[in-house]
Amino acid sequence: ELPPINGDFYHLDELLTEEERALQRKVRSFMETEVQPLVNKYWLRAEFPFELVPKLAELDICGVTYKGYGCPGKSNLMEGILAMEMARVDASFATFFGVQSGLAMGSIYMLGSDEQKQEWLPDMQQLKLIGAFGLTEPEVGSGAAGGLTTTAKRNGDSWVLNGQKKWIGNATFADVIIIWARDVDDNNVKGFLVRKNTPGLQVDKMEDKMALRIVQNGLITLTNCTVTESDRLQQANSFKDTARVLRMTRAGVAWEAVGCARGAYENALHYTRERKQFGKPIASFQLMQNHLVEMLSNLTAMQTMVFRLSQLQDENKLTDEHASLAKVFCTLRTRDVVSRAREVMGGNGILLQYNVARFVADAEAIYSYEGTKEINSLIVGRAITGFSAFV
Ligand code: FAD
Repeated sequence: ELPPINGDFYHLDELLTEEERALQRKVRSFMETEVQPLVNKYWLRAEFPFELVPKLAELDICGVTYKGYGCPGKSNLMEGILAMEMARVDASFATFFGVQSGLAMGSIYMLGSDEQKQEWLPDMQQLKLIGAFGLTEPEVGSGAAGGLTTTAKRNGDSWVLNGQKKWIGNATFADVIIIWARDVDDNNVKGFLVRKNTPGLQVDKMEDKMALRIVQNGLITLTNCTVTESDRLQQANSFKDTARVLRMTRAGVAWEAVGCARGAYENALHYTRERKQFGKPIASFQLMQNHLVEMLSNLTAMQTMVFRLSQLQDENKLTDEHASLAKVFCTLRTRDVVSRAREVMGGNGILLQYNVARFVADAEAIYSYEGTKEINSLIVGRAITGFSAFV
């Protein structure tokens, strides 16, 4: 009788309430029974599993921390646990959800007027409407804070948007895309709710990604795309406001990285116990055990880190540097965990059907999005030294 496989080595789940654990189990069961059987097929085809959206909606977990507007109003810790559970099976699915629930709904929840929240949040919560978040541009990624080239020009009761956005998750099918643009008159970054099919909005699917292939990323071109003043995010006055949304979602990305590492570790541990060479399970070899323990050490360090991160968030004490440190550490460690998982599986480590190869690829995207290692490190560096080293 072999010990159970459980990536929660320090029993962090015991710190959750019974209600929280019940929701965690519900989401885990959905991911394992509904998502897992389909995921490699969709990943390979680079298609999005729309058939799963109504089932995901039934879980009632979108916008899980927001209060009102049909949202459940649960803790940030709960939100983190759910991000981990999703990524433990599939990081693309977790990313789709993170864009919808965190980046898109979060922008509206944190920076919208009451009317805007009323209009969008209840339907987005139920996944009847899908959102996207357009900040990055073809020529401006890390430097988005001061460098956006997409412009917004006020014209009476409207705004005219021009420019391009690249990498925008969910954009190919989103009902609303939040476009961040620089107001040519006051030079501040503002956010706009750009509705599907608005004249002047063109979205082209980005092809041939080697990671997160299920996520539909769009290249957006805005050509005199006109939106009304009532569709400008009313509380978004400068990039500082955009950064508040990113602070929240970066914490979520750290949790996603943990999920990715956990899925890879658990699958690899299972494999090494089953696979025999030289007449013995490969898990019985010292060198294999060393890899497994390195994976578990990283995973456990990450989990305890994000657990505390979410507690800080729940106490309203989360800073940009708290979120950035966790984002850097977890995405970096996850790359190490998934590569060891792939290593202990030999050749099968690169076959999709063994459920580790996908994590290896996907970890690369998580490593780069929502701020690269360098940019998040510089955010922490600035906080601890008092010197900004961005330029
Ligand atoms: P660059 O900014 O060109 O960076 C290239 C390299 O230079 C990096 O290593 C970087 O760290 C380094 N570098 C840059 N500046 C400095 C500096 N000052 N000091 C030291 N090193 C520096 N964006 C959205 O707006 N919405 C989305 O939904 C979205 N989804 C994404 C999904 C995926 C799968 C990916 C890969 C990206 C997504 N992005 C999205 C974009 C993502 O946020 C950017 O890729 C990221 O911010 C990095 O920008 P970049 O790719 O342009 O790299």
